[in-house]
Amino acid sequence: MFVKMKKGDILLLLIIFIAGMSYFGLKFLYKDTGDKTIVISVNGKEYDRIAMSNLNGEKLIHIDLEEGRHIDIKIDSQGAHVSDVICPDKICVKTGVIDKVGQSIVCLPNKVQVFIEGSAETDVDYVSQ
Ligand SMILES: [Zn+2]
Repeated sequence: MFVKMKKGDILLLLIIFIAGMSYFGLKFLYKDTGDKTIVISVNGKEYDRIAMSNLNGEKLIHIDLEEGRHIDIKIDSQGAHVSDVICPDKICVKTGVIDKVGQSIVCLPNKVQVFIEGSAETDVDYVSQ
């Protein structure tokens, strides 16, 4: 037997469906920013990874490079940035602080990359304001 639905019933189901979807959508958007992980690679190899949620205060990572050069990467609740480096172009320093998933700092002369990895692909700042 065919169950006949009124137009209003279908509309109601549709509203419930959309509300449910947006609930999960919002849950995704409001995902805790603690999911971010700072991944540092040197010479294309992973050097270190620091989960932002495990961070206590700030962390300074000092990496000794070839020919007596070095790079210091500072990570705190604001994000990550290059605090000190021996680098000819200093583009890595000029990049400043990165704090969003997908952002990266690249130090080409020293072959160092700092990248923020995370499960949330959305711009968290957009919904937190
Ligand atoms: Zn650099």
